[in-house]
Amino acid sequence: MKPARRQESALDRFLRYARIDTQSAEDAPRVPSTRKQLDLARLLLAELKGLGVKRARLDAHGYVMATIPSNLPPGHPAFGKVARVGLIAHLDTSPSASGAGVKPRVFTYRGGDIRLSGNREVVIRARENPELKKQVGKRIVTSDGTTLLGADDKAGVAAIMTLAAQLAGLEAPLHGEVQLAFTPDEEVGRGTAHFDLARFAADVAYTFDGGTLGELNKETFSADGATITVHGRNIHPGEAKGVMVNALRALADVIVRLPRELSPERTEGHQGFIHPHAATGEEALASVKLLLRDFDVAGLKRQKRLLEGILREVRPLHPGARLVLEVKASYRNMRDRLAQVPEVTGALEEATRRAGVKPRWVPIRGGTDGSRLTAMGLPTPNVFAGGQNFHGPTEWLAVEGLEKAVLTGRHLVEVWVELGAKRKSGPFWL
Ligand SMILES: [Zn+2]
Repeated sequence: MKPARRQESALDRFLRYARIDTQSAEDAPRVPSTRKQLDLARLLLAELKGLGVKRARLDAHGYVMATIPSNLPPGHPAFGKVARVGLIAHLDTSPSASGAGVKPRVFTYRGGDIRLSGNREVVIRARENPELKKQVGKRIVTSDGTTLLGADDKAGVAAIMTLAAQLAGLEAPLHGEVQLAFTPDEEVGRGTAHFDLARFAADVAYTFDGGTLGELNKETFSADGATITVHGRNIHPGEAKGVMVNALRALADVIVRLPRELSPERTEGHQGFIHPHAATGEEALASVKLLLRDFDVAGLKRQKRLLEGILREVRPLHPGARLVLEVKASYRNMRDRLAQVPEVTGALEEATRRAGVKPRWVPIRGGTDGSRLTAMGLPTPNVFAGGQNFHGPTEWLAVEGLEKAVLTGRHLVEVWVELGAKRKSGPFWL
């Protein structure tokens, strides 16, 4: 590896990674869901090796994992007592918008709306992006409007790779063992499906998969997936009188009863929602899939009862139809588990402050790989990486946010050394 790459800026790294198409795919049976994610995985593996990170590997499921050994000298007060810190970002971009041929544009924001050059219809509006105001006179990155940008999550990948180059370099700050992971298929909900926790030998971890500068996340939705299936009876419409039971009509009666005030369009902050997002059907069989979301499991139970109530109401309107509700757990809020290990979020908050950034804890109206990893036993809050408007062509990245993410990560490993020095003995708690 050329020395230049070791010192490559986080922005330059981001621009290189953003140009690589890594879109994942829903419902693809293969792992990872698309082979093109491996293009970035292989590149990162080669770059890590080039940085001198010897324990770096790409596994059969498309996960890149690497270990940067501790550089603490024996005799250091924290020697042997530092938690192993994991840093995680995802390789893939959302299936909701094209990630092919991304042309990132870097420029100094002068204020006002931003009309993108490749598609003049696509406008990043100042009114809809209050964070833009803070970027006047600073550099931001957009796509040309024909694709998403992929800051979700290549900003996280670039931040971690930049930090890895620092930690593996000669002028690294003192740090304990640091584990890195780059995961496929986060956007299709399978980012942790094949996550090898035994190999990823970390005591705590942080996903770099967040938004605006200073935004930290320790709360996510708790999520269930519901399916309502209507079994009807089909017959030639000419002879249907008194015989046909049209599943579509019954399903429509169900959907129309979903409370509007509980929709994603009308909720924010800590409010939950019920969101019908896909329906299929014909006379004999129709079904709708719904996302159930709340920050509390009790709220999810209330939502399930609400759906049961709707079915009770609709059944008598469609004699002969069979309506079935099925609810499956998807993921759970990581808040409760993280509250049991306050050092994990405390260290992150302190590191953010040391990076010169005011930390803000914001609830995520979605899940992260961290929510699943936390449930699997690895406490994993989430860190900003500077991006905004994920999953569409108006996505943009604040360069300052990206750079501060790197700095926050650097302070984070230092804070963990200090915490280790205060401990009486090692290893860590887990
Ligand atoms: Zn993401």
